[in-house]
Amino acid sequence: MKLLVYIIGPAGSGKSTFTASFRDWLQSHNVPTATVNLDPAVENLDYVPDVDVREYVFVRDVLEEYGLGPNGAIIAATDLSLEHLPKISKSIDEEAEGYVLIDTPGQMEVFTFRQSGGIMVNTLCSKDKACAVAFLLDASLSIDPYNLVSQIFLAASAFYRFKLPLIVLLNKMDLLSDSEKEKILNWLAHPETLEFEISKVPRDYDAHFTGSVVRVLTEFLSIIPVVMVSAKKSENFEEVYFYLQQIYMGGEDFE
Ligand code: GDP
Ligand code: MG
Repeated sequence: MKLLVYIIGPAGSGKSTFTASFRDWLQSHNVPTATVNLDPAVENLDYVPDVDVREYVFVRDVLEEYGLGPNGAIIAATDLSLEHLPKISKSIDEEAEGYVLIDTPGQMEVFTFRQSGGIMVNTLCSKDKACAVAFLLDASLSIDPYNLVSQIFLAASAFYRFKLPLIVLLNKMDLLSDSEKEKILNWLAHPETLEFEISKVPRDYDAHFTGSVVRVLTEFLSIIPVVMVSAKKSENFEEVYFYLQQIYMGGEDFE
């Protein structure tokens, strides 16, 4: 059986870096791993994907052919990728059983909030495969409690959208000091402390709304694992593997 892991997150959160470094880590632990690039707009990748949407659709060609601006071209290229899904799906089927890491378009909204992303996920996740989402966030932006909350809500919206098991990866932990890491982990473990942080800056509409936001956040964090990682330094990948294995085969190992 294969586990398809969709790597989703805002632009610059480190999806492509993570795809490359987690692939290397898995392979060094003898876990068969393939990579798929579904970003038709990426120019340079740190890894050579086994399956690459750019073989069929490349944003620069779309830009020239249709005379669109950069955003329109990315959307059009992603929509055009749908035509080639059967070929992409077949190429994935030909890969060995094991992990399939799927790198998604730089701008997450193209994949998460438009129809084409949902169609891609549903088509590739056929019955004989397990599927999960690894949602990446930039931990260096999470030192601000408001930003942490809004980022987690972004992850929640992907969870709501794709209806797949999801783990949140707070990437770029190498950019944080020990005390910053501790602070963020403490907020996540005890979201009620976030309510206190947030209410330090009083705003007219705030008190009641903040209480509701923190309640939703607490519920989300009670079902969704959050792991701090560094894609650049391959830190905490054991923990990512642990959670993905739970999704894959109830925690059973490959040995
Ligand atoms: P994507 O748009 O989500 O695919 O993001 P990329 O993988 O292209 O990364 C965006 C930028 O963040 C690049 O400059 C990466 O080198 C950098 N980056 C990615 N992961 C890490 C990390 O763990 N630590 C640090 N310091 N930088 C990272
Ligand atoms: Mg990328």
